[in-house]
Amino acid sequence: MTESSTAIDLTPPDVAPYRRGNTGIDYVTTLESGRPGPHTVINALTHGNEVCGAIAIDTLFRLGVRPTRGRLTLALANVAAYLGFDPDNPYASRCVEEDFNRVWSPEVLDGRRDSAELRRARELRPVYDSADLLLDVHSMTNDTAPLTLCGRTARGRELARRLGYPSWIVADGGHASGRRLLDYGAFAAADGGPTALLVECGQHWKAATAEVAVETCLRFLLNADMIDADVALPFLRKRDEPLRMVEVTQAVTPHTDSFAFVRAFTGLEVLPRAGTLIGRDGDTPVLTPHDDCVLIMPARRAKAGQTAVRLGRLVR
Ligand SMILES: [Zn+2]
Repeated sequence: MTESSTAIDLTPPDVAPYRRGNTGIDYVTTLESGRPGPHTVINALTHGNEVCGAIAIDTLFRLGVRPTRGRLTLALANVAAYLGFDPDNPYASRCVEEDFNRVWSPEVLDGRRDSAELRRARELRPVYDSADLLLDVHSMTNDTAPLTLCGRTARGRELARRLGYPSWIVADGGHASGRRLLDYGAFAAADGGPTALLVECGQHWKAATAEVAVETCLRFLLNADMIDADVALPFLRKRDEPLRMVEVTQAVTPHTDSFAFVRAFTGLEVLPRAGTLIGRDGDTPVLTPHDDCVLIMPARRAKAGQTAVRLGRLVR
């Protein structure tokens, strides 16, 4: 697997002004409208090197965005990792000790294990527990078109479709290596409950990725009828790409530490024929299981037990 460009076109914003917030939790600010409505949480820096989310939150603050109903919480999650961002070694600041986005099961959160990420997750848990709507802002290693991960719930799909942007929507159940925030608690409950989406805005450090992040946050708030359109309009581009919904059929989770793709995939390739060789896990060939197989976010490198790529099919 070749490395995508590591040119860094984005400047990580100074988040020090947002540390104190107003919730008693560092880097978490809740804006109250004083009117009934949902509690919407926009969450960034789940991964410390995904700068676009910090730019989106910084932009919302600078725009002076205020909810016109309900409550809006702006949260910067793994700031400890983000503060270590080094443009010369940009992959290193994804996390401090472990992936913040793999700890979201009660057994892990309530268990005895400890790490910088788990401490932060336990601190932020009440914020997510009280959300009616959550948008978790991410970016990707590869220069792939932006996409929304909507989890497995019908309401997640509906919300992603209603937003209509990004135009690629991926319905999936997460990773074998641990539960994501998207799949945490009530977000993943089958019947009713709060709705969470995860947006992958593009390649980690491309300028366009931050624009996608800002636009997606504003569209999310507009869709929730929580901000004035005047605030958002200057950031909204004309979008006429057709919506494409991909249902993930399986994840490729290597059994060995020597998994390799047969060529450099960037993601969202559609491989027409079942049985197409995409990689080798040690000596074992990895083949596409069905026709029109969509590759979702191939990993830069994958060890045993970690997701190398997810495979899906286009659905209506
Ligand atoms: Zn991420």
